[in-house]
Amino acid sequence: MTDIVGCNQCGYPKTGVVMSTTVHRNGLRYQRRKRRCHRCGASYYTIEIMEDTSERNSDTKANRLRQGHG
Ligand SMILES: [Zn+2]
Repeated sequence: MTDIVGCNQCGYPKTGVVMSTTVHRNGLRYQRRKRRCHRCGASYYTIEIMEDTSERNSDTKANRLRQGHG
């Protein structure tokens, strides 16, 4: 599972998360995020499903390289 979602306008690999909302529906947990591209400035929403995979813990990576905000 990757946390990096590219821009759907210009294809820039990294976008910033402006706003994040958790939505519960049908027993599933969604993350509704508003993203904004740093290159072209396009903003759009993404729906990311958070799965509870407690059984599988083969490879755990903490990859959080985010700097700054706003
Ligand atoms: Zn872009």
